[in-house]
Amino acid sequence: MRRDGIQIGRIYGIPIFLHTSWFLIFGLIAFSFYSEFDALQLNLPPSRLVGLGVMTSALFFGSLVFHEMAHSVIAKYYKIPVVSITLFVFGGVSRIGREPGRALEEFNIAIAGPLSSLFLAGGFWLVEWQAGSNAILNTLAGSLGWINFSLALFNLIPGFPLDGGHILRAIIWGFNKNYARATRIAARSGQVVAYGMIAAGAATALSNYSPLGGSVGGLWLAFIGWFILSAAKQSQAQAEAHDALDGLRVADIMTPELHTVGREISLEDYAREMVRTGRRAHLVVAGNQLVGLVTAEALTSVPQHDWDVTSVQAVMLPKDKLHWAAPEEPALSLLDRMRTVGMQQMPVIAAGSVVGIVTRDSIMRVLQSRHELGSLAER
Ligand SMILES: [Zn+2]
Repeated sequence: MRRDGIQIGRIYGIPIFLHTSWFLIFGLIAFSFYSEFDALQLNLPPSRLVGLGVMTSALFFGSLVFHEMAHSVIAKYYKIPVVSITLFVFGGVSRIGREPGRALEEFNIAIAGPLSSLFLAGGFWLVEWQAGSNAILNTLAGSLGWINFSLALFNLIPGFPLDGGHILRAIIWGFNKNYARATRIAARSGQVVAYGMIAAGAATALSNYSPLGGSVGGLWLAFIGWFILSAAKQSQAQAEAHDALDGLRVADIMTPELHTVGREISLEDYAREMVRTGRRAHLVVAGNQLVGLVTAEALTSVPQHDWDVTSVQAVMLPKDKLHWAAPEEPALSLLDRMRTVGMQQMPVIAAGSVVGIVTRDSIMRVLQSRHELGSLAER
């Protein structure tokens, strides 16, 4: 499973990660709040100003977590597993285990984020209003109010991967009942938004260029545009994969030939077997009994000089921890399950015995050949 950064804790059972880029951004934001408090000229000692900067910055990131939690709580309400929440360079991302099953679910999960940010904006503005002549509280609450308000508006821009893109897809999906087409429209809209941001950012950067860094805002906008562009392209690729796998069953995408290894052999021997068969996963057997699954990742988790003294059994995923697929299970639901549990391969079981294995590679092969056939057949 891809590393998301550093885990800082769990809320409501959902692991919260900090992307490494987060530290830089946190520092920058803390510094900008520091400058804001400094500009009030209250003659505070620098340590107080730094403390205020860090605290406001922490409240800002707390607001991002609140926004992501709003998505997650609604997703969980619909029994959709939430894999993780990651805070990174310009906000947060919730990874959910599968796509929502109905347009209304997607709409509600998506709208919960901007609504929660609007709610926070209202709350901070209320504090600002109550703060009266307290300049520090006034500045702190006022800034956080505007930031949350902007966050809500920005996220409502109707293009993937922003919340507005999901809202757009949900609306189109609800009307035309065609999930894949709705996804393509929202992804394309995301690309248009992204190109617009890159162009506007570049134009701002060029027209405001000054040796003192007047172009930073423009470059920042262009950078966010570039980020949205790559995410929108990824959503489009996912929609195409969804199209290609739609209607297929596990039996259509599994690799039927089975490669097994004995549990007692050493990793040294297993490495040789892997090279010989060209497979990255093998079922582990004891006699005729299936006892687990061993993969290239498990092999490389052990230092090479220990391979001759470590058995396959020591590193395999034991049978009771394995997830199974049935040949008649829809391919799309298997893909969702593999994503949720973070597995790269899954054995296929029929009538108590193993009949094949589905791996990421075998899915990619299906997508590849479908893609080639599709471009011949469709247009
Ligand atoms: Zn959101």
